[in-house]
Amino acid sequence: MHRTAEAVIVGGGIIGNSIAYFLAKEGIKPVVVEKRDIAGGASGACDKAIILSSKNPGIHLELALKSADLYRELAEELGEEVEYRQEGGMIVIESPAEWETMERFVARQRRSGLNIRLLDKKETKELQPVLSDHILGATYNPDDAEVNPIMMTLALAKRAKQLGAEYLLHTEVTGVEVAHGKVKAVETSRGKIATNLVINAAGAWAPLIGDMAGLKIPIKPRRGQLLITEAMPKMIRGDILSAKYIAAKYNPDLVAQGEDLFSRLGVGLSLGQTESGNFIIGATREFVGYDTGNTPEGIEAVARNAVRIVPVLERINLIRTFAGLRPYTPDGIPILDWAPEVEGMFIAAGHEGDGIALAPITGKLVLQLITGQKLAVNPEPFKITRF
Ligand SMILES: Cc1cc2nc3c(=O)[nH]c(=O)nc-3n(C[C@H](O)[C@H](O)[C@H](O)COP(=O)(O)OP(=O)(O)OC[C@H]3O[C@@H](n4cnc5c(N)ncnc54)[C@H](O)[C@@H]3O)c2cc1C
Repeated sequence: MHRTAEAVIVGGGIIGNSIAYFLAKEGIKPVVVEKRDIAGGASGACDKAIILSSKNPGIHLELALKSADLYRELAEELGEEVEYRQEGGMIVIESPAEWETMERFVARQRRSGLNIRLLDKKETKELQPVLSDHILGATYNPDDAEVNPIMMTLALAKRAKQLGAEYLLHTEVTGVEVAHGKVKAVETSRGKIATNLVINAAGAWAPLIGDMAGLKIPIKPRRGQLLITEAMPKMIRGDILSAKYIAAKYNPDLVAQGEDLFSRLGVGLSLGQTESGNFIIGATREFVGYDTGNTPEGIEAVARNAVRIVPVLERINLIRTFAGLRPYTPDGIPILDWAPEVEGMFIAAGHEGDGIALAPITGKLVLQLITGQKLAVNPEPFKITRF
C-alpha cells in the first residue's frame, strides 16, 4: 500500500475521532490510523462522565464548559443514540477537612462560571438516598452530564467517514518520516502514507509517536481499574465522585505518600449507572507503564471504597473488570500544539481523566489551530513548551 493523505490522524480514540469529524466537516479528508479498533484504547475502557464539577477552576474548567455546550449540539447533530443525559453530578464529602477544601474549590469554580453549590447532609441524602450515613454533604452541579463513550466515539467515526474521512484499522503507525525538519510520510504496518500533516492523537501512546520524529512529549500512562456490576433498577442520579477522587487526580505526590491501600493506588470513588442498569465503579490512578491488567488489590481497593460510600453495593454482584490508560500530563491539562522543530506534526493528547468530556472542544480547537481560524479558546496554556 502506498497512498497520500491531506492529513493523517494517529489514534482512533475519542480525541482522534473528534478531530476527524471536525476536519471532515470542513472539507479536509483525513486518514485515521488505529492499531486496534475504534475506541480500542482508553476511550473504550473508561467511565462516562461529562463532569464539570471535577475540573480545576481556570482554563481547565473553561475548556470543559465550552465542551459541554458543544456536547448538547453534537448529541443532536450526529443523529445517533449516544446515551447523552444531563442528570447532574455530585462530589461527596467525608470529613470536616474535605469540607473546607471543597468549600474553597466550589467558591473558585463559581467564580469561573460553574453553576455548582454545596449541599448539607440532608439535601445530599434526599438527592442520592443510597449514600452512607457518614457522608457530611456534597457539591452538586445540575449541568454535569453523561454519555456512552464507545457509542460517542463510534458515532463521530461514522459521521467523519460519511464526510470523507478514511479509516485504516488494525494498522499500526511504526514510523514518521521527517526530512529537513518537515513531516513527509507516516510508515504503517500496511505501508507508507505520504503526507505533510500528522496529528498525534495516540493518547497515552503519544510519546511513542513523538519518539518516531525525535520529539519528547511529557505524557505518561496512568492506569485506572474499573468494576462493572450486574444490571439493577435505577438507584442513582447522574454521577457520584468522592472528594478523595479530586485529591488523587490533582495531587499524585499526596497519594504516593499515603501508606494505606487506597492512597497507594490513588483510589477515589467514581460511580455511575449505565442505561442498562450496570454500575460502573472506579477507579485507581497508578503509574505502571502500559500494563492494562487488573490486579486483585486494585479490585479490592475500588470495591471496598465504593461499599464504604454506597453500602448497598455490597449486595450487588460484580460481573467484570477492566482497566484503561489515562494520558497523564504533569499539570493535568492536554497538549494541543504544533510540535516544535518538526513542521507538520500536531500533538493532541494528554487529556488524563477528562478526554471524554473534552473531546468536542478538542476537535474544534485543533481544526481552528490547523486552519488558522478564529480560536474558541486561548491556546497558550496547551502549548508543549510550557513544560
Ligand atoms: C478508568 C478511567 C475512567 C475514565 N473516566 C472518564 C470520564 O468519566 N470522563 C472523561 O471525560 N474521561 C474519562 N477518562 C479519560 C478518558 O478515557 C481519556 O482521557 C480519553 O479516552 C483519551 O482519549 P484519546 O483518544 O486521547 O486516547 P485513546 O482512547 O487511548 O486513543 C488512543 C488510540 O491510539 C491508538 N494507538 C496508539 N499507538 C498507536 C500506533 N502506533 N498506531 C496506531 N494507533 C495507535 C490506541 O490503540 C488508541 O486506540 C477515564 C479514563 C480511565 C482510564
